[in-house]
Amino acid sequence: MKWALVGASTIAREYVIAAIRAQTGHEVARLVSGSAERGEGYAEENGIPMSGTELDTALADPEIGAVYISTTNEKHFPQAMAAIAAGKHVLCEKPLAMTLEDAVTMVRAAEDAGLTFATNHHLRCSGSHRAIRALVSEGRIGRVLSMRIFHAVHLPPHLQGWRINDASAGGGVIPDITVHDADVTRFILGEDPKTVVAQMAASGMGDSVEDSAMSVWSMPSGAMVMTHESFTHPFAGSGLEVHGTEGSIFASGVMTQQPLGEIELVTAEGRAPVSYSDHDLYTQGLADFAAAIRGEGPPAATGWDGVKSLAVALSVRASAASGQREDVDYGGAP
Ligand code: NDP
Repeated sequence: MKWALVGASTIAREYVIAAIRAQTGHEVARLVSGSAERGEGYAEENGIPMSGTELDTALADPEIGAVYISTTNEKHFPQAMAAIAAGKHVLCEKPLAMTLEDAVTMVRAAEDAGLTFATNHHLRCSGSHRAIRALVSEGRIGRVLSMRIFHAVHLPPHLQGWRINDASAGGGVIPDITVHDADVTRFILGEDPKTVVAQMAASGMGDSVEDSAMSVWSMPSGAMVMTHESFTHPFAGSGLEVHGTEGSIFASGVMTQQPLGEIELVTAEGRAPVSYSDHDLYTQGLADFAAAIRGEGPPAATGWDGVKSLAVALSVRASAASGQREDVDYGGAP
């Protein structure tokens, strides 16, 4: 399977190129960048044989089977639609699009074309999150009452560009991190947030966009979820907790791109550490995507998962802007 990368991005360089290459028979054959010069430098640095500025040229290459889209957020929709029209499988970065309507359109288009379409929600690929999900689904903490997600980090200097100063490119902590927390919540609890109340702030890094958000979500089961996302917290650490009638799960340091963190299960029997697989998150995501192309089940996060995480994030922003509780509109997603 030959891949075209759309976007000379940091995430591709730091994680996804290696994850593609870790799959047997998969190679990165082409790069599409908005800048010929920067694209050529990036391709050379990362050992990508062909680089160009024309997406259509890459998509016209019959040897390309899959496309990874990791441009800024406003470009995902037109680039994904073009890739789908060219008959390529698509792994698209979160948030899938700027609007729910666009996200639904791209996922439906891929379905109609019989193509594999996945969202790169890496956290549900981690051993830690999969272990927490298993504890919850096996009933180890009884009926879930609440969940808390701590995801206030410090955006590193090399990423302090469009994310903190360009709303038109999809900047802001809500499209960047709240989408992940929405996906983690859905993955671990197995249900979709129904209503949200939220507030947002520019606490030192955000220019025209929010750099911090806090929200509370109500789940159909009655469980409550509290999330905190930020770009401005150097020492807060990350984590999540799930509390049930028979136990609690405490996971520290697990909202990360690395297979790191500690999990503890607390029940009437006492406290017990929880072990988990320390595989690479992105390599697992790519393995699940490659298996999906072979017809072996869905990718780790489907297109509809990407639609739903975007829907929650859009509701969080709407609530923070209006000061009102918002019902989450999933745009008819199954
Ligand atoms: P980058 O800012 O590194 O790259 C985004 C785009 O910016 C690139 O496509 C590139 O444009 C352009 N660009 C990159 N470097 C430069 C530069 N030095 N000068 C000018 N333009 C530049 O973004 P990220 O890699 O952080 O994020 C890309 C996407 O991936 C986003 O949608 C983000 O939400 C998502 N993401 C997902 C993560 C995950 O774990 N799932 C983690 C991090 C990001 P061009 O295409 O024209 O070359």
